[in-house]
Amino acid sequence: MTDFAKTRAMFDIPEGMIYLNGNSLGPMPKTAPAAMNSFLTEEWQPELIKGWNTKNWFMQTNTLGDRVGRLIGAAPGTTVVGDTLSIKVFQAVAAGLSMVPDRRVILSDNGNFPTDLYMVEGLMKLKNKEYELRIPNPEDVMAGITDEVAVVMLTEVDYRTGRKHDMKAVIEKAHAVGAVVVWDLAHSIGAVPVDVTEADTDFAVGCTYKYLNAGPGAPAFIHVASRLLNDVDPALSGWYGHEAPFAFDTDYRPMPGKIDRMRVGTPSIASFSLLSAALDIWEDVDMNDLRARSIELSELFISEIETRCPGVTFAGPRNPEERGSHVSFRFEHGYPCMQALIAAGVIGDFRAPDIMRFGITPLFINHSDILGAVDVLERILKNETWKEERFQTRSKVT
Ligand SMILES: *Cc1c(COP(=O)(O)O)cnc(C)c1O
Repeated sequence: MTDFAKTRAMFDIPEGMIYLNGNSLGPMPKTAPAAMNSFLTEEWQPELIKGWNTKNWFMQTNTLGDRVGRLIGAAPGTTVVGDTLSIKVFQAVAAGLSMVPDRRVILSDNGNFPTDLYMVEGLMKLKNKEYELRIPNPEDVMAGITDEVAVVMLTEVDYRTGRKHDMKAVIEKAHAVGAVVVWDLAHSIGAVPVDVTEADTDFAVGCTYKYLNAGPGAPAFIHVASRLLNDVDPALSGWYGHEAPFAFDTDYRPMPGKIDRMRVGTPSIASFSLLSAALDIWEDVDMNDLRARSIELSELFISEIETRCPGVTFAGPRNPEERGSHVSFRFEHGYPCMQALIAAGVIGDFRAPDIMRFGITPLFINHSDILGAVDVLERILKNETWKEERFQTRSKVT
C-alpha cells in the first residue's frame, strides 16, 4: 500500500492552507530547493559548457522522459520532455495529419482546453489545403469518429468538469476507421492510472506542473508509440531532433527510429532539476492506490458539499469511474465565492462561466483537509461572505 501520510510529508505547503489546486499547479516538494541549488552550485557553476556531457544535460530530455513515461505505461525510449504542452500538442497533431494525408478533418470536443484547439487552428492555417476542426459535445465524440477523420485529438479528463473519455473505446474506433489519436493527458498523468501501451495509443502529450508537481512552467512531454517512431514526421524540425546535431549539416534529417526526433531545441536544464526531484516522490506510489484514494476523498467532498452547501451544484459525472481527480461545482456567484475561499486559506480555482473547481490530490490531501474545506465553504455561504466588495474584482489569472 502506498503510504500517503509519507507522501504528504514530502511537500512544503504553507501552514494553515488547504490546497485543492494541485490539478493546476502542484505544490513544492521539500527537496526542490536543494535540487535546484545543487544544479546551480554543482553543475552550472563548476562545469559550465562541459555540463552538457559531464552532467548528461543533453540527454535529460530522454532520461527524464523515460521516468515520466513510466507513469503512463510507456515503454522506455518512447517519451521525451521539453517545451510546453501547447507546442507538444502542435507537434503531435501535425505528425498525425501527415500520417493520414488524404483526409481533412480533425475531431476534438468543445470541452477541450482552448489552447489545444487554438494550436490546431494555427496548424490548419499553415497547411495549404482546407482542413476542418470539428468540436462536438464530448458525449458525441464517439459518433463523430468516421472515415473522414484524420486525427482525433482529445483531452482524456475534461479540465472543467473532470469528465473522462473512454480511452480504449476511442482508440479502437479511431483505428478501425483509419484515424490517428492524440491524447492530451494534462489532467490524467499522476491523477488516474493510464496505460498508453495497453491502450495502443498513437500519441500522448501532457505537462508536469499539474499533478506531477514539477513547478510553474515545468517541461511538457510527448510520447509516440514505438511502432511509429521510424515514420513520424517532426513538423518542428529543430536541431535537437536531428540525426547528428553536432555535424551541423545544413539540411534536416530526423533521428531515425528514435523519440529524439520529437525534441526541438535547447530545453531549460534548470527546470529539469525540479522535475527530477518531483519524480522521486512518485517512485513508491502505486497508481491504483492513488486512484482508490482519489475516489474516496472526492466522494466524501461531493456528499459533504451536497448536504451542507445549498445552491452549490455538482457539475461532473456521478459515477466516479467517469471522472478524473478534480471535482467541479456550479454556483451562480462562483467567482467571488472562490475568492472568499482563497482568502480563508482554501485554494481552489474558478473556471468561467460559473465553475468552482477543486483538485483532489491524494499525495498531499487527506480526509481532514476535505472536511475542513467544506466547513469553510459552508460558513462563507451562511454568512454570505462572498458578497464583500473585495471579492468582486477579477484578477488577470483565475
Ligand atoms: C494545462 C493544460 C494546457 C496548458 O498548456 P501550456 O502550454 O502548458 O500552457 C494545455 N492543455 C490542457 C488540456 C491543459 O489542461
